[in-house]
Amino acid sequence: MRFPNVFVLLLIVFITCALLICINFFTIKILSANRAYVNGESHYSKGQKDAARHLITYLYTKDKKQWKLYLEELSVPQGDGLARKTLLKAGDNQIARQGFLNGRNHRDDLDDLVWLFVHFKEVPFLAKAIHEWEQGDKLIFELFVIGTEIDAKIKHSTLTPGQQRKFLEQISIISDRLTVNERNFSNTLGAGTRKIKDLLIIVNILFILIIVCSICLYYSIMVKRLLVSKKEIEVKNENLILVNHELDCFVYSASHDLRSPITSLKGLIKITQLEDSVVQIKDYLCLMEQSLAKQDQFISDIIDYSKNKRALIIMEPVSLRQLFEEAISQLMHIENASRIKFTKELLVDQIHSDSLRLKIIISNLLSNAIKYADANKQEMLISIKTSVNDGFNKIEVTDNGIGIKEEHKDTIFDMYFGTNKNKGSGLGLYIVKEAVENIKGNISVSSQTEIGSKFVVTIPNYYAT
Ligand code: ADP
Repeated sequence: MRFPNVFVLLLIVFITCALLICINFFTIKILSANRAYVNGESHYSKGQKDAARHLITYLYTKDKKQWKLYLEELSVPQGDGLARKTLLKAGDNQIARQGFLNGRNHRDDLDDLVWLFVHFKEVPFLAKAIHEWEQGDKLIFELFVIGTEIDAKIKHSTLTPGQQRKFLEQISIISDRLTVNERNFSNTLGAGTRKIKDLLIIVNILFILIIVCSICLYYSIMVKRLLVSKKEIEVKNENLILVNHELDCFVYSASHDLRSPITSLKGLIKITQLEDSVVQIKDYLCLMEQSLAKQDQFISDIIDYSKNKRALIIMEPVSLRQLFEEAISQLMHIENASRIKFTKELLVDQIHSDSLRLKIIISNLLSNAIKYADANKQEMLISIKTSVNDGFNKIEVTDNGIGIKEEHKDTIFDMYFGTNKNKGSGLGLYIVKEAVENIKGNISVSSQTEIGSKFVVTIPNYYAT
C-alpha cells in the first residue's frame, strides 16, 4: 500500500502557517496605517475649519490675534499637503515626516503613514483617496491666497463692506467643497479598510482549512501506518510461532529418526555375532544395508531441508532433461527401480530458474514415484512431461503406483507425514512444497488408490517475461 509522503503534508502546514503569519502581519499594518490616515484626516478637517473660522473673525474684527490663529490652524492641512507632495516626488524623507508632524499626526504613526503611502499609492482605493487629498490641498491653497489678500487689505485699510461679503462668500464656498473632499477621503479609506477586512477573513478561513485538512490527513496516514505495521507484526509473530513449532517437531523427530536405524543396526550386529549360518548372516547383512540406506536417505533429506531453507535463490539457465536424467540414475538403487518403465515427453527443456530447488523437487517426486510403485502390476510406469502454458512452465510426474488414500491427500505435504516409515522420513513432500514456494510456483496432486498418482508443478517462466 502506498501512502503520500507525510513530510509533504508537514511542509504544507509549515508553509501555510508562515504565509498566514505574514499576511496577518501586513494586513494589520495596512489597517493600522489606514486608521492613522483617518485620524490625520480629522486633524486636517478640524484645522481647515478652525482656520476658516479665525479668518472670518479676522475679516470682521481685524484682530491680529485671529490672523495668527488662522495661520496656526492652516499650517495643519498645509503640513499634510507638504508630506503628500514630497512623498510623491522623493519617497520616504525627513520633510514628509515633518509635514505629517505639522499635520498633528502622532509620532508613532509616522512609519505606518509613510510605509502605506510609498508602497500602496497605486492601489485603487488609496490612489482615489490621494486624489481627493490633492483636490483638498488645492482648496487649502485658495484659502491661503484669500487670507493673504484679506490681510493685505486690512493692513492698507482698503477693505470695503462689499469686499468683506465677497471674501466671506468665497471662504464658505471653499469650506463646503473641502468638506466634500474630506468626506470622500474618509469614505474611500473606510471602504478600502472594509474590503481588506473581508479579504483577510476569507484568507484566514482558507488557510486554517488547509492546515486542519493537512493535519487530519497526516494523522489518518499515521494511524493507517500503525495499523499496517501492527498487522505486519502479527503476521510475523504467527510465522515465528509456526517456525518454532516446526523446529520443535523437527528436533524431536530428527533425534528419534536418526537413532532408530542405529538401534536396529546394533541389534542386528549382536544377533549376527551369535549366528553361524552363512545364509542367515547374509540376510542380516541385507537388513543392515537397508537400515543404513534409510539413515542415508534421512540425512540427505535433512541436508535438502537445510539447503532449501538457507541457500539464496539463484536464477540461471537450467536443463530439465539433464535434471531428470541425473535424478533417475541416482535413484536406480531403490527397490524395483530397474523394473519401472520411464517415458518422457519434454516439450520444454531449457528454462530460467533456481537449479537447486528444481533438483530437490524433481528428485523427490521421482523417488516417491519409484518408492510407491505397485510391484503387483504387470507393468510399472512413470511418465515425465514438461510444457509451457500462459507464462508458466509445467512439470508433471505421473505413475501407476499404489496411489494416495483420499484421507491422506491433505496431509502428505506436512512435515513428517509418511505412511510407511520404512520407505521414507516423511520430509520429502514438505521440502518439495517449500522449494516450489521459494521459486514462486505451485504444486498440486491428483491420485486414486491402486490406479496411480500425478504431481503437477507450475513455475513462472522468466524467459517469457
Ligand atoms: P516419505 O519420505 O514418507 O516418502 P513424503 O513426504 O515424500 O514422505 O511423502 C509423504 C507421503 O505421501 C508418503 O508416505 C506416501 O504415503 C505419499 N506419497 C507421496 N508420493 C506418492 C506417490 N507417488 N504415490 C503414492 N503415494 C505417495
